[in-house]
Amino acid sequence: MSGDRTSESGPLAYADWRDRLEDGELVGLECRSCGHVTATPKRACIDCGDRILDTCSLPTTGTVHSETTITVPPVGFEGPYQVGVIDLGETKLMGRIRGDEGVEIGASVEFADTVELDGMPAPVFEPVE
Ligand SMILES: [Zn+2]
Repeated sequence: MSGDRTSESGPLAYADWRDRLEDGELVGLECRSCGHVTATPKRACIDCGDRILDTCSLPTTGTVHSETTITVPPVGFEGPYQVGVIDLGETKLMGRIRGDEGVEIGASVEFADTVELDGMPAPVFEPVE
């Protein structure tokens, strides 16, 4: 932890990311060198490898980039349910999609909730009209 070269705002720790997610806020990291944005905590930019990353707010609405339905859910979950990669504009984020009808690629969705998966929260998105 200490001794790392990080931005003034500090690196986005996983615990911070999780707390903010549970508070209904989507945050990511923006690389100071190349501007690449990721939606989950990273130690270094996945694009250029730079370690100076600034925490940034992400939009809570996006469009479905890809989706799949989990027909055999993990133990403790009721299925089937839908998961998808949500395009937030600057970055993409994987999450659960809630809704009786299911959503199609290109549909608008909004960050609505979190779900615990293997002890880690994952964002839940709901379709918006
Ligand atoms: Zn970068």
